[in-house]
This record gives sequence, C-alpha cells and structure tokens, in this order.
Amino acid sequence: MQMTPAYVKNQILTLTVDAMGNDGEGIARDHGFPFFVKGVLPGETVVVSVMKVKKTYGYARLVEVLTPSKERREPVCPVAASCGGCQLQHVSYEEQLHYKEQKVLGCLSHIGRIENPEQYMEPIIGMQNPYAYRNKAQYPVGRNKEGRIVTGFYAGRTHQIKENEHCAIQEEGMDEILAIVRSYMEQYDISPYDETSQTGIVRHVLIRKGHHTGQWMVCLVINAKTLPHWEMLVENLKDIPGMTCICINQNRKNTNVILGDHTKLLYGTPVIEDKIGDITYEISPESFYQVNPIQTERLYEVALSYAGLTGKEVVWDLYCGIGTISLFLARKAEKVYGVEIVPQAVKNAERNREKNHLDNVEFYTGAAEEIFPERYAADPAGCRADVVVVDPPRKGCDQKLLETICHMGPERIVYVSCDPATLARDIHYLTTDGKYELKRFRPVDMFPQGVHVECVTLLQRKNT
Ligand code: SAH
Repeated sequence: MQMTPAYVKNQILTLTVDAMGNDGEGIARDHGFPFFVKGVLPGETVVVSVMKVKKTYGYARLVEVLTPSKERREPVCPVAASCGGCQLQHVSYEEQLHYKEQKVLGCLSHIGRIENPEQYMEPIIGMQNPYAYRNKAQYPVGRNKEGRIVTGFYAGRTHQIKENEHCAIQEEGMDEILAIVRSYMEQYDISPYDETSQTGIVRHVLIRKGHHTGQWMVCLVINAKTLPHWEMLVENLKDIPGMTCICINQNRKNTNVILGDHTKLLYGTPVIEDKIGDITYEISPESFYQVNPIQTERLYEVALSYAGLTGKEVVWDLYCGIGTISLFLARKAEKVYGVEIVPQAVKNAERNREKNHLDNVEFYTGAAEEIFPERYAADPAGCRADVVVVDPPRKGCDQKLLETICHMGPERIVYVSCDPATLARDIHYLTTDGKYELKRFRPVDMFPQGVHVECVTLLQRKNT
C-alpha cells in the first residue's frame, strides 16, 4: 500500500471531529487533511491510529475519546462497533434525526441545486421507541472458530459474519427461530455455505413477520436442490405461535444476491399477511415490503396527503411492489395504475386488490422505465395522470421515465425516496427546465440506528 509520506501506518494523532460523513463516520482533520473515523461525533477530540492513507484523505481507527460529545450514548448492542447493521448506535436519537435532516438538505442543495431547501422541509418523523422495529432479516449462516454454526450479520463492508444472538433493531421472536435453525443444522449435520469454496448448503435464513397479524415466514436459502431432514426443521418450527410459511429458496449461483429463482413451500401457505392502516397485504418471500411497519404507515400518510386526492384523480404508482401505495391511494382516487418489475410482487398486488375490494386499480409487470413510456407513446391523449408517485430503489429513476413524466405533465409528482442523493439528482432534472417546482418534503426515519433516510417529496407542475 502506498502511504502519503506525511503519515505512517499506526501513527497516533489527536484530532477534532468536525463533521459526519454519508455513512455516519466522523470526519476529523489533521492540518486540513481529512481522516474518516468510525464511531466518533462532531465536536469530539479523539485519539486515533492511522490505518490507510490515500492522496486526499485517510482512514483512522478510534483509540480514545478525550472529550465526548453530549450526544454520545452507550450502544445497546455489545457488537455495535463492528457489526455492519447499525452505524449510529453511539449517537443520541435526537442527533440521529438531526443528522438525517441535514443529509437530505445537503443533497438537495448540492446535488439538487435547490436554494435554501430548509424552507420546503417539514420536520423528520422519528419513532417513539427506535428499537425492535424491523420486520425482516436475512441472516448469513457460517461457522465460528470452534466449528459451531453461527448466524449474525456481516461486519461493515465485509463478508465476515459477526456472531450475534440478539439484534436490538429486530422485532422480538427472531432469536428463537434462529436458535431452532442452528440447532437443527447441528443435529443433522447440515453444513453452512462457504462463499470461498462454494460448498455447503445453507446460505441465509430469511425471516419476516407480519407486525399486525403476528404471522411468521421462515425461508432457508440453500445451495442445493433440497434440504436434508427438512421435516425435522418444520417439526421444530411449526408450533411457534403465528408460524404461517416455512419454505426453501434455491440459490446455487456464486453471487451476492440473496434469493435465487425457485422457492418451494415446506409448510403452511406461500405468503404471509400484514396490515397497513385498514388494508391487508399478502407478501411473498421474493417481494419487497417496507421493513419498518410502524413508520410505513406514517410514510404512506405523508404520501397520501401530498397526493392531494379528491376522488377524481388518475394516479400512476411506479415501482409499486405488492401494491402498498397503490391500494393506500385507491380509496381516494378514481383510478390507480401500478408498475412493478418482480412478477411475484405483482401477483401479490393483484390478490391484495381483490382481498381489499379495490377494483379501480390495474397493475403492469415490467420495468417502469419501459412500460410507462410505452403506454404513453401508444396513446398520448388517453394515457394521462393527475398524480404520479415514484418509489424507486436506491439508484433512483431512469431518465427515460422522468422525461415521460415531464411530457405527460401530471399536476403533482410524489417522490418517495430511500436515497437523498439520487432523489436530489432527479429533482434537479424535474425542476431544471422550469416545468416542476419543489413544494414540500418530509424525511421519515424508517431506519433508526442506521444511516439511511427515507424522504417524501411533493413537486408541483408550474403553470407557465
Ligand atoms: N412502493 C412499494 C415498493 C418500493 S421498493 C412499497 O412501498 O412497498 C421499490 C420497488 O421497485 C421494488 O418492489 C422493486 O422490485 C421495484 N423495482 C426495481 N426496479 C424496478 C424497475 N426498473 N421498474 C419497476 N419496478 C422496479
């Protein structure tokens, strides 16, 4: 490794932290030269040890905090510093919320080039109890040094499993299920998958809970056709109250993608159900479903209020998943069209429409950036919208999609985003030619203790 001459590895420095970066790490400068340091807070004076130095920045490890920030807290998890799951457990919850607001504001002003974005911001919606909220986890399975089967999470930016038998942000009950899976694997000598040699069977355990229904889904992702002695796993899991779906998913590829293409049911029904507000949703293992059920309801309420529906509107819900937002809006709209790329999710969406007797909704399977422009090109006069909702994955919207929205010219765009940087990029596109203006936005904390932030934004068509 090439070190900048000014620093040597393991050199000890005393620095003051002046900011927090995108991944929650502190930025501390030595005569202007920035070091990224995990687990430190702005305002703190810290002793660090140099790890790696690049041309314009370096990485250093925290050795000691000399003057702690008043926002510093003792993490509730003993593995918080090394586990890649949470990045902000050492930060007070108020400060976490402030950090997330600043992150959105920073992106909107630097990338979105919005002047004084504060004027459009409604305060972030936080949680009353910012722990035990996650309804879904995908635990990698491996062995520890003693050869025992372990489950946990990957340490930050690695594929090393950090053993963890209790995760503070997961809903109660997952630990018990994991303990049963581990002891079944020990008892029947079922090997965990080893990424390096690509041998072994069990790769991940996917667990999902219907927060309001109490229904559990357990899916073992396996590198094999079948799971030996699976009847015994079912036997041991099926009496857990709410156990609704036990399945295996085959993934035999050398990939970071967790789920493979084939899912086989071992016990119960192939889906679980949950409720948001008074709408019931069924969810397959392959489908996306928001991980924080308490905040999801708040998120959708904001989206609904930004949509400003009176009952007469035509709405397109792009990236609709299992139709969550589509159905949430359908009761207040004349017609809703949803577009989603994962076929299983569209199947869920269609059943969810029937289940909730909302027959003014239609779903299309495919890429939003293909279906939406194609439909519009085929019938520019007939294919229209008063409101377009987009809720894309982190990479944001394809430009072709944004172009079509601009041509179609809906009155309002409600942009639900899980990445403020791509949100800001897309807002810049939509506001640049003067067609749309930013009206309001509201961050929602869907991921307490983590660095990600969700944000709902309202853009209004300019009447020029
Ligand atoms: N609005 C939904 C889903 C949001 S997550 C909810 O709140 O539950 C984003 C969704 O976009 C996922 O379901 C994902 O499968 C889907 N997706 C990803 N790329 C897509 C694309 N190019 N076109 C359409 N849908 C896509």
